[in-house]
Amino acid sequence: MSSTFSLTLKDILEIKPEVVVLPWGATEAHNYHLPYSTDVTEAFEVAAQSCEIANSKGAKTVCYPAVPFGANAQQLDQHITVSLSVKTMYAILEDVCTSLTKQGVKKLVIYNFHGGNEFKPFIRDLMGKFEVFILLIDAFRMIPEEVDEIFDVPGDHAGELETSLMMYIKGNISKSEAGEGKRNDYNLNALSESGIWSPRPWSKIHPDTGSGNPVLADAEKGKKYFERLTEKTAEIFLELSNTPFERLP
Ligand SMILES: [Zn+2]
Repeated sequence: MSSTFSLTLKDILEIKPEVVVLPWGATEAHNYHLPYSTDVTEAFEVAAQSCEIANSKGAKTVCYPAVPFGANAQQLDQHITVSLSVKTMYAILEDVCTSLTKQGVKKLVIYNFHGGNEFKPFIRDLMGKFEVFILLIDAFRMIPEEVDEIFDVPGDHAGELETSLMMYIKGNISKSEAGEGKRNDYNLNALSESGIWSPRPWSKIHPDTGSGNPVLADAEKGKKYFERLTEKTAEIFLELSNTPFERLP
């Protein structure tokens, strides 16, 4: 695998990485049937396999372990949830940029699998400070047409899509304990208007913590989605690896 869980110094010296990939997840409740670290597993497994595919086509990428915590300030009423503050997330990214630019690595991908994680202001700031190109991939927003084709009702948290993906990756997921992933209405009507936003107080809006019903999930759908997502991601990694830094973007 093209991740630091298996690559040795010898391997790294051979690859001479052009692109480093930092998967980023979260540790949070995912209805009653999926593991807390679902987003960590998804971010890492998809990113690592994408590096593997890209490298087999000539890319020079390396995948780090996933950052295990994310922005979960609206879920702190749920047991053992840890939320990273904006300060902490920025500090992690700044330290990554400080470290990598000392070694001449100038292309960083953030491979994000948690909806609450926001990176855009950080990236604008860091690219102004460091000689580094940062590409943000919100993986759960990718390949929308394929998502529509594969899933009946994908859902956005522990629903059909995520459950299928985890059934494929982990193989031992049972849906028997799952709730329906229902969403309660807001009291504030304004929040249904386009362009109006406030974070979801998660347990209030989603009583079983799921958003989307996992009932139609299966491993076959998960496999299809994993394959299409890794294929598309690998194309992006390959293009980024092959494009000289001076010519980016
Ligand atoms: Zn998730």
